[in-house]
Amino acid sequence: MNDLVRHKGQRAQLVKALIAKGISDVPVLKAIGKVPRHLFLDSSFEEHAYLDKAFPIASGQTISHPYTVAFQSSLLQVQARHKVLEIGTGSGYQAAVLVEMGAKLYSIERQSELFQLTKNLMDKLGYPFVMKYGDGFAGLPGFAPFDRIIVTAGAPDIPPKLVEQLAPNGRMVIPVGVGDQCMKLITKDAEGTIRVEEHGNFRFVPMLEAKSR
Ligand code: SAH
Repeated sequence: MNDLVRHKGQRAQLVKALIAKGISDVPVLKAIGKVPRHLFLDSSFEEHAYLDKAFPIASGQTISHPYTVAFQSSLLQVQARHKVLEIGTGSGYQAAVLVEMGAKLYSIERQSELFQLTKNLMDKLGYPFVMKYGDGFAGLPGFAPFDRIIVTAGAPDIPPKLVEQLAPNGRMVIPVGVGDQCMKLITKDAEGTIRVEEHGNFRFVPMLEAKSR
């Protein structure tokens, strides 16, 4: 598990490229500058790990573009010690960025093979967060409420159980739609009133209903 000077240089270039694309959130840029994305990908993609590209990972899923990770993380406004729920652990890269930002993270993955692979990798890389195999539509009621919720698969609509599990003054970032998705920011104020804002179009793998093992 090598993180070489060469990789650090490539990461610095990626951070510059994200700034050029409009990302300005300093804690997000710092976290992306630290997480060794090449270790979250199949080694055959290593040379391209710091380009702003999505790549295939196990179980027919994809690791999101760094721009998408940066955009969602910026909208989320994570602060240190926030309790954060991620739906769609995938490669673990977005999770590692949030942990690097100080989140107390819980993440759910629905593909068992990918769950196991990523769990082993996170143990090796030493990113501390709680990983659950399960259905993101249900959230994690036993650990709720969450200050922040981030969904990293395209949801058919806004899952009501996730809105329920959002704390007062909480924020949820979720791509909604079939095919293309509209990035939605859902906020819950201190009285529990929900507001929804739209933040442009993206393309994610679909958020799928629960399946049996
Ligand atoms: N955050 C990931 C992105 C992975 S792609 C990363 O940084 O690599 C989206 C992931 O959502 C896939 O791994 C997919 O298996 C998972 N997913 C799809 N539907 C889900 C559901 N209902 N619950 C939990 N995870 C789900």
